[in-house]
Amino acid sequence: DPRINGIRTKIRVVPNFPKPGIMFQDITTLLLEPKAFKDTIDLFVERYKGKNISVVAGIEARGFIFGPPIALAIGAKFVPLRKPKKLPGEVMHEEYVLEYGRDCIEMHVGAVKAGERALVVDDLIATGGTLSAAINLLERAGAEVVECACVIELPELKGRERLSGKSLYILVEYR
Ligand code: 5GP
Repeated sequence: DPRINGIRTKIRVVPNFPKPGIMFQDITTLLLEPKAFKDTIDLFVERYKGKNISVVAGIEARGFIFGPPIALAIGAKFVPLRKPKKLPGEVMHEEYVLEYGRDCIEMHVGAVKAGERALVVDDLIATGGTLSAAINLLERAGAEVVECACVIELPELKGRERLSGKSLYILVEYR
């Protein structure tokens, strides 16, 4: 799709952020370009419209940028998956392992009902730890995770292999 290259060129790569040796993929420059930002959302909407998805679950923080416009366009609800201690209601939480240490994401109990068809959205998959925790949360709530969708994949980190066979759709690979 010719739109993909337009998207790719608007993502800024920042070396040594947040730590030495990391090439940070900065999507804020994509958001500054209305055409490329809209193409990004449109590509996801074209893929998921009419697929009977009732939940778009977005991962804090950049899944909150891409998830809601997709949810509105396909007629699904939006459910935020948040860092610990941000959600005010009763939560389910799921821990995952990072390179150094552990992290956790939380979802409101009752936000997703058993049998719902869910799409998980984030900006980027690296090791896959975050998406795999999101899949676990949704499945614990009884939802069916139809697919995970990210703008960017870092394929060398093999995050796909941590998604327990769930399908992953991405727009741009960074090698
Ligand atoms: P993972 O759990 O797959 O190792 O890391 C993915 C999570 O970390 C995502 O929530 C993503 O937003 C964030 N992340 C890791 N590296 C980058 C990066 O280079 N750019 C951006 N925008 N996010 C990153």
